[in-house]
Amino acid sequence: MRTLITNGTIVTADGSFAADVLVDGETIAAIGAGLAGMVQSDETIDATGRYVIPGGIDVHTHMELPFGGTFAKDTFETGTRAAAFGGTTSIVDFAVQSKGQALRTGLDAWHAKAEGNAVLDYGFHMIMSDVNDDSLAEMDQLVTEGVPDFKLFTAYPGVFYSDDAAIFRAMQQTTKNGGLILMHAENGPAIDVVAAQLVAEGKTDPYYHGIARFPVFEGEATNRVIRLAEAAGAPVYIVHLSVIDALTAVREARDRGTQAFAETCPQYLFLSLDDLGGGFNGAKFICSPPLRDKDPNWEQLWTGLRKNDLQVVSTDHCPFDFHGQKEMGRGDFRKIPNGLPGVEDRVDLLHDGGVVAGRISRERWVEIVSTEPAKLFGMYPKKGAIAVGSDADLVVYDPDRVRTISATTHHMDVDYSCYEGRAIQGGSDIVMSRGSVVVRNGVFTGRKGHGRFIRRAPADYARLA
Ligand SMILES: [Zn+2]
Repeated sequence: MRTLITNGTIVTADGSFAADVLVDGETIAAIGAGLAGMVQSDETIDATGRYVIPGGIDVHTHMELPFGGTFAKDTFETGTRAAAFGGTTSIVDFAVQSKGQALRTGLDAWHAKAEGNAVLDYGFHMIMSDVNDDSLAEMDQLVTEGVPDFKLFTAYPGVFYSDDAAIFRAMQQTTKNGGLILMHAENGPAIDVVAAQLVAEGKTDPYYHGIARFPVFEGEATNRVIRLAEAAGAPVYIVHLSVIDALTAVREARDRGTQAFAETCPQYLFLSLDDLGGGFNGAKFICSPPLRDKDPNWEQLWTGLRKNDLQVVSTDHCPFDFHGQKEMGRGDFRKIPNGLPGVEDRVDLLHDGGVVAGRISRERWVEIVSTEPAKLFGMYPKKGAIAVGSDADLVVYDPDRVRTISATTHHMDVDYSCYEGRAIQGGSDIVMSRGSVVVRNGVFTGRKGHGRFIRRAPADYARLA
């Protein structure tokens, strides 16, 4: 099967230019002006007036994550299908090691969830809940199996929490095996103290979830884990950075030459502490770190993205229904499952709020939603690039189309949207995964089980820093 995409503007992290793209089988076979008259194809897609971009890569999703006695609602099938509608063609999800179990057991369980179900290609990071001699040795094996990153938490005592010794040992291990430690950096023990005090005072509404998790708790933990990484001689990646306190820690580390990387998420660029108000409705916006004050955080995070102190925007997609799931925390915000739906909206929100709003160039947009995630997580140039030989994960993107986000029209399996009623400019017309069109003008044409596991290699973090 050969497909020719003609008359579009190719937009990559490096630049934009008019050219046609020939897809042969699963990969890109040729790129050039005037290919239409020179090559045979089975199908021609006319991309006049539109961009041709590498498909989005969301390196932070939680399909079917067990949390607080329930499960994130999207499966690998529904979640990757929704991602495809939003112009994302690869995800990296988090397999979970349960306390007392092997990494292998958790990884096998996540392979079983995804295989035969995912619509798009997927990789895994490994969440480590139990750092010990056995799990440290297992890390080396996982790196060779294409799972080179490991996430640890300074939050959630008693669940995912690791103390400094555990974090430091895991970092030392990555200096030997080449992998990368991802950190959820908030001071969980201190947060739990404040949260318990608030609940004791009768402050149980979702809003107080945001109040309990002080910005300084994120700043402190971010600085601490970066310092531990420096001591171990390891690179480190901060997930879902939400606030200026943490951004400052990352910027200062990068300025002194540390291999520190960080992502933020759309919810920290477009939503704020105000959304957590309004009584129990605020439960829809509960995630950790929490939504922050709009000023000065939003503009500071955009500045971080422009200046490359932040390299990636991912979603932390972790959807729970408002009815029946978020409601488990009525009367105590600590019992509300943490997480927001978002995998479908990321590329469009960043286009609208970033490119259309004049905050970033369209090339930087492609870089933070696709190319840089591919590079940092060992998928480049197979993914995240428009180049001969790369996977034909391509999106024909209409930068002018306007639509309104709503739970009534989104494809995520969740009963609300954080962006309900928000009008945005930009949308994916054609979405292609390894040469197969999976979404065409708002209609799903993909196939459950099409998605394959992406075996990833450690990246050259020193070069990317
Ligand atoms: Zn997460």
